[in-house]
Amino acid sequence: MTTLPAGWGDGTRSVRAGDAPPVPGTPLRPSPVFAAPFHLGDRPPRADGADAYARTEHPTFRAFEDAVGELDGGRCLAFSTGMAAVTAAVTALVSAGDRLVLPADGYYATRLLARDELERLGVRVEYVPTTGIGDVAARGDLDGARMVLLETPSNPHLDVCDVAAVARATRAAGALLAVDNTTATPLGQRPLALGADLTVGADTKALTGHSDLLLGHVSTTSGEVFDRLKGWRDHTGSTPGAFDAWLGHRSMSTLDLRLARQAETAAAVAEVLAGHPAVTGVRWPWLASDPSHELATRQMLRPVGVVSAELADEAAVSRFLAASRLWTAATSFGGVHSTVDRRAQWGGDAVPAGFLRFSCGIEDTDDVVADLTTALDAV
Ligand SMILES: *Cc1c(COP(=O)(O)O)cnc(C)c1O
Repeated sequence: MTTLPAGWGDGTRSVRAGDAPPVPGTPLRPSPVFAAPFHLGDRPPRADGADAYARTEHPTFRAFEDAVGELDGGRCLAFSTGMAAVTAAVTALVSAGDRLVLPADGYYATRLLARDELERLGVRVEYVPTTGIGDVAARGDLDGARMVLLETPSNPHLDVCDVAAVARATRAAGALLAVDNTTATPLGQRPLALGADLTVGADTKALTGHSDLLLGHVSTTSGEVFDRLKGWRDHTGSTPGAFDAWLGHRSMSTLDLRLARQAETAAAVAEVLAGHPAVTGVRWPWLASDPSHELATRQMLRPVGVVSAELADEAAVSRFLAASRLWTAATSFGGVHSTVDRRAQWGGDAVPAGFLRFSCGIEDTDDVVADLTTALDAV
């Protein structure tokens, strides 16, 4: 891999991150390699860095990891899903009896992991709201914690917390700071540059963005943390498939373009939602009136394509969906399709029945906004 010049913009970085030096006669982007064992020949395993077995080393994962690590500003390890990455970040570094601080209002599967698996293994888990973690850090209440995991912007409420401030507190407390950067992506926020020890991504979402694969990653600037995570992945086998890693790398090339359209649409969508009588509680951190506005615009590098808002109840959501052609009912977010998810139907988030997470796709902004207006008028 060659490191990119510091001055290159996000479009250039999206395409060129992780590229190998050009070799005449080879493709611009390597094809996926399908192999479980590799030839050993008459040499000992891994002689001169040769790949031996795909669970522990694989050229297609490395290409994806080089690209994502370049954007994150650290060394990256890919995992089979976002949850496999979150599990690795926490479980590889936290032991029985350790104190682990998690968001009370973040991605619900992370809370299920803690409740059903980590607590069972003797980890002392504490849940703190995303907007409250700054106060906990400022009070010095992180002393004795082994790890703090933040999710910012949080999912689905889009609350934001000050990563640099919490990083100073975790460092002082001797704890590790991990940030779930899924919603922002490495182009929207750089947790490692803000002082986090690890950044975690559910690359199933906007980073790959085509709603056709599951993938996750962890990046870190610490060699020690990297080695521990690599050991965890080797032992647990939570590696991605070669085809998914290749698709993920391919999809990343358009990240800058996709995020730009999603953000443009999100700005228009947030405005329409905020001005419509059928809607309450609009959240989008780039609305000047949003409680996260000041911090998000200071800490983040660009807006996200996710907006949340509330309709009156479940029946209002049904009328909205029946009247819409472009707002497809689906969970997940960050993909090329505009989608909307009634979060209460999953039972994991503390939200009212009519709470919706809108994920703006890359269709024409005018079409998506016109469809939104029509569907809201039908509510
Ligand atoms: C979706 C998501 C995950 C989990 O990703 P999967 O690929 O579905 O396992 C983790 N964190 C956040 C913030 C997410 O949105």
